[in-house]
Amino acid sequence: MAMRQPNLTRRNLPALLVAGPMPVAATQPAIVLNDASRLSATPVFRYWSADASNEAAFLARLRAELRDAAGQRRPVAVGAARHSMGAQSLPRDGTAISMRGARLDIDRAARTCRVHAGTRWSSVIRRLDTEGLSPLVMQSNNDFGVGATLCVNAHGWPTPHGPFGSTVVAFRIMLADGTVVECSPTRNADLFRLAIGGYGLIGIVLDVEVRLAANAMLQPLQEVMPADAFAPRFIAMANDPTVGMIYGRMNVSRADMFTEALLVSYRAAPAPRNGLPPVAQGGMMVQVARSIYRAQIGSEAAKRRRWLAEKRLVPALGTGMATRNRLMNEPAASLAGRDPRRTDILHEYFLPAPRFGDFLAGCRTLIPPAKAEFLNVTLRHVLRDNLSLLAYARSDCIAAVLSFSQEMSAEGEADMVRLTQALTDMVLGLGGSFYLPYRRHARPDQFARAYPRADEFRHAKRTHDPHLLFRNALWDSYLGT
Ligand SMILES: Cc1cc2nc3c(=O)[nH]c(=O)nc-3n(C[C@H](O)[C@H](O)[C@H](O)COP(=O)(O)OP(=O)(O)OC[C@H]3O[C@@H](n4cnc5c(N)ncnc54)[C@H](O)[C@@H]3O)c2cc1C
Repeated sequence: MAMRQPNLTRRNLPALLVAGPMPVAATQPAIVLNDASRLSATPVFRYWSADASNEAAFLARLRAELRDAAGQRRPVAVGAARHSMGAQSLPRDGTAISMRGARLDIDRAARTCRVHAGTRWSSVIRRLDTEGLSPLVMQSNNDFGVGATLCVNAHGWPTPHGPFGSTVVAFRIMLADGTVVECSPTRNADLFRLAIGGYGLIGIVLDVEVRLAANAMLQPLQEVMPADAFAPRFIAMANDPTVGMIYGRMNVSRADMFTEALLVSYRAAPAPRNGLPPVAQGGMMVQVARSIYRAQIGSEAAKRRRWLAEKRLVPALGTGMATRNRLMNEPAASLAGRDPRRTDILHEYFLPAPRFGDFLAGCRTLIPPAKAEFLNVTLRHVLRDNLSLLAYARSDCIAAVLSFSQEMSAEGEADMVRLTQALTDMVLGLGGSFYLPYRRHARPDQFARAYPRADEFRHAKRTHDPHLLFRNALWDSYLGT
């Protein structure tokens, strides 16, 4: 098949969407998809969006695609917002399907909802808000698909909770042979443990039933402290039953990195007499103006100004009262960069609290010499994950999300590989682990140390998907061998 037009990106892609499984003409141009990194250009054979509004037609179309792909030995990968950064949602020369959906059924008595896998959290929050409900655990941004949240087993800053899987009651999944099964801790429990955090390698998640929280007015408490005092205080606050959400930040300039910490915890406050205000967009990051945040690239002085703004000015601006839904309703675009020569890359490491001080010391040594610009660290609390086979939180831990701005060049990439591998060695030495939806820069031996049950996962995947229909770059890099 002739392949052309290699520069197609997510932004101009819709014009070329293929309507569904159909014979592909010899002249069909190549479709090249990318993800949030803009560094994952991957040619795919076919790309289409799965509209779930008609359930029977939706399932029939997925089955036809799986049959067709299996017949041609093409891989299939499903994605939602494609904000993963290492082609985890992209099947090389295969069929890429985007899940879209908007169905959401609320069970008020059980305080749960059943939501189509492609539904974005922004829609979920809007709808739950009208019912006085709120997601129990989700990411800190609202752009992502609910099914994708299950597949990466995401976590956020509500406390005290394990990753998203700990809030999942059940889900339906379509397996490689087209059968649809319901999974829960008691029904098809092996598939439940495999698909949660399984990066779509087990099947297509169709919908998810998930536990919810009550929406509430929350009042922040902001504390500034020396960085070395952070871990014990953070853990104590995260386990305080009156605290519902919590995060931390630290200063990131090269010369005085990680010397000071900001700890922000939220407790329930009385609702206003006329009820909770309807959810508006704008979570915690909007507190830091985009211009102040982006100015940090290439300027150590701007990094120091940003830290001052965050620790002094923000608390002075007012009470900071907000509903839980408002805090969760943050679009990823709030602080995103617009320079085509650079890209924002996330790392995330999970540390046992007693080793957090050693992690800070390791970062102070490893990050400043790197070419990448270190823009932010956000700290969260994650309880141990006893469920997923590919669990990243193997004990209760502090999660450190590091945000870098990287030059989009061979040199920028080589620098990021070096930095990631050095940070990962350091974290593994402290008994920690790293998160998988970002760049695939960790070495295979590092992956094996962080994910000691990967062999079990591999074996089970081959049992449920013997022809390896569901594949993506994560499988190709770490699991397929
Ligand atoms: C700005 C930003 C902020 C972030 N914040 C957080 C955070 O606070 N906490 C956190 O835990 N993570 C966070 N992440 C990581 C994020 O959770 C993952 O990248 C997640 O995958 C994003 O969802 P998505 O809809 O873009 O998924 P995609 O990238 O589209 O898919 C992710 C994976 O799930 C699979 N998949 C998706 N849908 C299905 C389905 N229906 N059936 C089968 N497989 C499927 C894909 O094949 C892929 O392997 C953040 C990422 C970014 C870029």
